[in-house]
Amino acid sequence: MNKMNYDVVVCGGGVAGVAAALAAARKGARTCLLEKEYALGGLATLGLIVIYLPLCDGAGTLMSGGIAEELLKCSLRYGPGDIPDVWTKENASVEERATKRYRVQYNAASFMIAAEELLLSEGVNIFYDSRITDVMCKDNRISSVLLETKFGKRLVNGRSFIDATGDADLCWLAGEETVNDSTNRRTGWYFSYDGNDLKLNTLSDPLYKAIPADSRLYSGISIEDISQHCIDGRKMILNHLQKMKEEGNPSIYPLIIPTFPGFRMTRRLAGSFEFSEDKHERCWFSDAIGMIGNWKRSGPRYSIPYRAIKASKNTNLFAVGRCCCADKSGWDLTRVIPTCAVTGEAAGVAAAILSENEEQPKIQELQETLVKNGVLLNPELFTKQI
Ligand SMILES: Cc1cc2nc3c(=O)[nH]c(=O)nc-3n(C[C@H](O)[C@H](O)[C@H](O)COP(=O)(O)OP(=O)(O)OC[C@H]3O[C@@H](n4cnc5c(N)ncnc54)[C@H](O)[C@@H]3O)c2cc1C
Repeated sequence: MNKMNYDVVVCGGGVAGVAAALAAARKGARTCLLEKEYALGGLATLGLIVIYLPLCDGAGTLMSGGIAEELLKCSLRYGPGDIPDVWTKENASVEERATKRYRVQYNAASFMIAAEELLLSEGVNIFYDSRITDVMCKDNRISSVLLETKFGKRLVNGRSFIDATGDADLCWLAGEETVNDSTNRRTGWYFSYDGNDLKLNTLSDPLYKAIPADSRLYSGISIEDISQHCIDGRKMILNHLQKMKEEGNPSIYPLIIPTFPGFRMTRRLAGSFEFSEDKHERCWFSDAIGMIGNWKRSGPRYSIPYRAIKASKNTNLFAVGRCCCADKSGWDLTRVIPTCAVTGEAAGVAAAILSENEEQPKIQELQETLVKNGVLLNPELFTKQI
């Protein structure tokens, strides 16, 4: 069997995987990114989730810099879309910045192309059509992952591994404890066109109240369930279009529909420490690897601990993006695009350090490297120390 050897193996090429691969390669690691689809971005491009939620706290303070901010700019590189001017204007006051959140809507095609260009320019080897189906472990370490490709199986050896699959596939295959949260409902983000207007329609059954009688829950971890979610999502889009036609827009049609299932949560790492929205507002963790705001409310601030991205059993495995370790409340913050970039970047640097030194990264070294790379880590913004 054809074998490949890398320092850092990033599994999954959504926003979290892109950030991880970028950070690892910049730290000097021979890095590959394995992706089962044929483009980068996952939900954020193929799933048409084209809203990069805020990098700020809503009260005028930037929380997420580094690759999280770089990818926001990257998403706009080939247009259209602009950063709110209070966030581009030099010397804008905190009060001015509090008037507008630092978020953008981008074009999925532009982001896909720009993200790929960026990774290639940093020397990341990208392999598409590469589905990870198994892992080889020894002495509490992963030694390789097995890929199913169109042309047979391939083995990829690595010194450290990053699970950016969104579904914690790697963690699950490697025997880590995982948790599945079957709280997904029907979704269908799509673009319609009627000859004049191009419109993003963000269809989603409500999660908590006024749930339609024909709505159901989906786990997203069996092919039956995944297939039904895709089928039901497309029916939802058709029903929506039919309604638009009946309401006086007869020329409307679906222009772009998602080619990636719109699951918010499937499976995540149940690691040694759960990040929590409910418990950790304004808490500074001594092992913080990044900071975020709250996309739902202005004001709250959070730091993300290294413990939340570190696997428990396998010493060279990290889980990032929507599959890092968080409780039910915390997951609603860790799953969004900016936080996926934050956890991805930290894991990329940590994995590169681990691969180089063959020992666990020291928190101080990790934090210093992240800060050097533009990540914001400021304990003074927090009121409680943990
Ligand atoms: C309906 C809905 C609305 C949302 N709205 C917003 C919003 O407005 N703004 C926002 O910021 N966030 C939003 N989110 C959340 C956000 O889009 C995602 O959680 C985030 O993009 C996830 O990024 P990720 O990299 O962790 O995972 P994913 O985007 O899921 O990427 C995982 C990648 O891994 C690949 N992969 C998976 N398994 C394997 C395997 N076994 N082998 C190889 N490759 C594999 C996948 O193909 C994919 O490319 C929304 C989500 C949903 C579902």
